[in-house]
Amino acid sequence: MLATETPAINASTSKSGGVGPRPVDILVIGGGPGGTPAAMALASAGRRVLLVEKGAGLGGTCLFEGCIPSKILHESAQRLQAIRCAKKFGLHLPAGEVEIDWDAIMRRKAAILQHRSEGALQRVRHIPTLTVQFGSAALLGPRRARITPRDGESEDIEFGNAIVATGSVPKLLPITGIDLPQVVTSEQLLEIEHLPKRLVVIGAGPIGVEMAQIFAAFGSQVTLLEAGPRILAPIDEEIAIALQTHIQWQGIVLELGAQVLGIYADGDSARVQYQNATGAQRNANAETVLEATGRHPNVERLGLEYTSVRFDHHGVKVDGKLETDEPGIYAIGDVVGHPMFAHWATVQALALAGHLLGRPTHFPTPAINSAVIFSTPEVGIAGLTESEASAAGHNIGIARYDFRADARAQVSGHPEGMLKLVYDKTERAVLGVHILAEGAASLLGEGALAVAAKVPLEVLAATIHSHPTLSESMGVAAREAITSGR
Ligand SMILES: Cc1cc2nc3c(=O)[nH]c(=O)nc-3n(C[C@H](O)[C@H](O)[C@H](O)COP(=O)(O)OP(=O)(O)OC[C@H]3O[C@@H](n4cnc5c(N)ncnc54)[C@H](O)[C@@H]3O)c2cc1C
Repeated sequence: MLATETPAINASTSKSGGVGPRPVDILVIGGGPGGTPAAMALASAGRRVLLVEKGAGLGGTCLFEGCIPSKILHESAQRLQAIRCAKKFGLHLPAGEVEIDWDAIMRRKAAILQHRSEGALQRVRHIPTLTVQFGSAALLGPRRARITPRDGESEDIEFGNAIVATGSVPKLLPITGIDLPQVVTSEQLLEIEHLPKRLVVIGAGPIGVEMAQIFAAFGSQVTLLEAGPRILAPIDEEIAIALQTHIQWQGIVLELGAQVLGIYADGDSARVQYQNATGAQRNANAETVLEATGRHPNVERLGLEYTSVRFDHHGVKVDGKLETDEPGIYAIGDVVGHPMFAHWATVQALALAGHLLGRPTHFPTPAINSAVIFSTPEVGIAGLTESEASAAGHNIGIARYDFRADARAQVSGHPEGMLKLVYDKTERAVLGVHILAEGAASLLGEGALAVAAKVPLEVLAATIHSHPTLSESMGVAAREAITSGR
């Protein structure tokens, strides 16, 4: 078990004192993309729900420190790249470099976050049986919790069911220098006041890759260190290896098989010492070092030890209906472990809400999950990889498409990338869709539908895709696989 710190339990600190704890039907702990939709769906059906969020607003890591701020920076970086490539499209801009106004980018980010956070609060205010409390919640037992508001006295409550949706926190390498001021997490990098001249990114998972490419586009000299033999370990190998080439074309120094040994202060900078794939010791210097080696489930100070809820460093243990070992207590989203995506937390939330409302419910399985990595070019994945499908016993076929020959990709100036459809040759159903292309994020919707609905390859082949669009790739890949009997 992970170490947890739980506030001292002392009935005298509780506002409820002698009158007994306030009863609620459902306690939801955490107001991210998991907890908020769960609370809203349950309260909209008339349940008395208490949603407790310890941050400043509703939206969780996704809104304040993850998906949205990173995509705001990504958008500015993409537009900068587009301006730099204007000549290729016959557009001659006035001579000189484009000026990056970092403060303006940060102000735009803050404004979007505030707008979205206020929108979320307005939506919950319209639900009469939903109470939102800003503060922290900790379980005191299987049916009791203590709520400590940000201002004011704590209160004990009694709940019928509880949903733990407390998300995840950055994992930190146990190495010398991890606590140096130059070493930041993704949350801190997204708040950085100045663009670093040099940035070392430790870890080439989705967050590390996205950040490395964003800051390289803004002009930082980036070194990306990855301990494994390739980037983005869980995704399709061919796509990951193709993306590595793009990363290197962008001028990022990519070191695979790099074991970071320690980080040392070097004036205002930091020196990251690592052992490279050949066993030689190397150093990478930078003003800022991003530690992006993954995320832990957030189970700190939750009082799980006063219940039968089990957890380890992978997450809270739940069954197929997201119930923990403590009957009536459920967990959703990042705190349950991988996959850690905002939309995954939300689909789990909505399925669980349906289940608690007594509706027939299909709980989502990772085999139909989809995800986008906002790299350059983008990566879109839905369903199973070739190896996962083979391991699951499918007789697999692969349909392919090369975006170098694609009309839309050529028009938009990104004639690169690939699409792979993994399908079951016997049952014909599409099991996985894997895309590397600028525009994969939008294209993936059809792939996610094909996987979720187990669409036969023949249906995809017969679907009429408009010309010239990237979506034609789906139909062409399917038709060619059918014709060639692949
Ligand atoms: C840099 C970055 C980029 C990302 N980009 C994407 C992306 O593009 N797409 C995507 O799908 N996902 C992305 N993610 C992942 C995504 O942010 C998470 O998967 C998602 O936020 C998980 O939702 P959640 O509701 O489980 O947890 P969270 O969003 O972490 O919400 C948990 C909430 O619980 C609160 N909380 C914790 N403990 C307590 C307590 N004791 N009492 C009260 N409240 C508590 C926290 O304050 C937090 O607000 C990104 C993550 C990062 C870090």
